Amino acid sequence: MRSRHTLHLVRRKCCRGAEHRGAFSAAVRARRTRILDSVIDTHCHLTSREYDGRLGEILDGARACGVHACVTISTTTADAERCVAVAQSHPGVVATAGIHPLHSDDPIDWEQLRRAAAHPRCVAWGELGLDRHYSHPPLELQRTVLDAQLERICGWAAEGLAKPIVIHCRDAFGDLIPVLAASGLPRDRFVFHCFTAGPDEARAVLDFGASISFTGVVSFRNAGAVREAAALVPDDRIMAETDAPWLSPEPVRATRPNEPRFVTHVARALAAARGTTYEALEAILDANAERFFGPLVARGAAA
Ligand SMILES: [Zn+2]
Repeated sequence: MRSRHTLHLVRRKCCRGAEHRGAFSAAVRARRTRILDSVIDTHCHLTSREYDGRLGEILDGARACGVHACVTISTTTADAERCVAVAQSHPGVVATAGIHPLHSDDPIDWEQLRRAAAHPRCVAWGELGLDRHYSHPPLELQRTVLDAQLERICGWAAEGLAKPIVIHCRDAFGDLIPVLAASGLPRDRFVFHCFTAGPDEARAVLDFGASISFTGVVSFRNAGAVREAAALVPDDRIMAETDAPWLSPEPVRATRPNEPRFVTHVARALAAARGTTYEALEAILDANAERFFGPLVARGAAA
């Protein structure tokens, strides 16, 4: 069990200076004054087959629950194009462009990726990273594709296509963090999504300088270590997501597929883990998502 004092030290260490903290608090205060119908699902897969023919209905359901923006995350270069098309045709949806490590053996069309990324509704790179949980595709191939993506992201950033980066990391923190550090890309522009590890890994990510995003896993009964990790992330480095269609949170864990509207359950579980209220945390989560992904995910701007 960590003492309050230690927790305080971790939080202080992970924040980045008084000026940043001041601006952050002001942004959170501004959001708390709004009506609470402003929630963002920072990571879902709306191009998934589970939503075929039902996407309008799924997004209407999300809006009815106060979810005003969804970031639909790409897993292959062809999917990046599909994500952008979904973002273009659905208000409140923005897209990313990237190759998921478990899709490293899918066909890669770099020009398709660059084109998708250049679209005004594409707000980030990703998801990219390493996954040691599954042995296929082999780690060496995942690493080759990761290196190739980071090299291009650096090159395209230099040409004016700089974006934040959504990271997929499963059982691979020790391998991945040094690779990201060596890329030279700004560390506060990375978010480690679907964090399912414990406090030690969370500290490693925070020490590196990235943000951490939590899914419904934080609500699962056997996920005590994930809740412990969630409790130590500083206010300005935490985000929430569904990773829908997967990982339905409690109390709707048996509902398949997961949907963006259930991100409110993730936020409630996170608030409980951090000993705060849903309302207070929601304002923080929104401020962080808007700062990280940009003004297109802000309430009223994502039309
Ligand atoms: Zn995902």
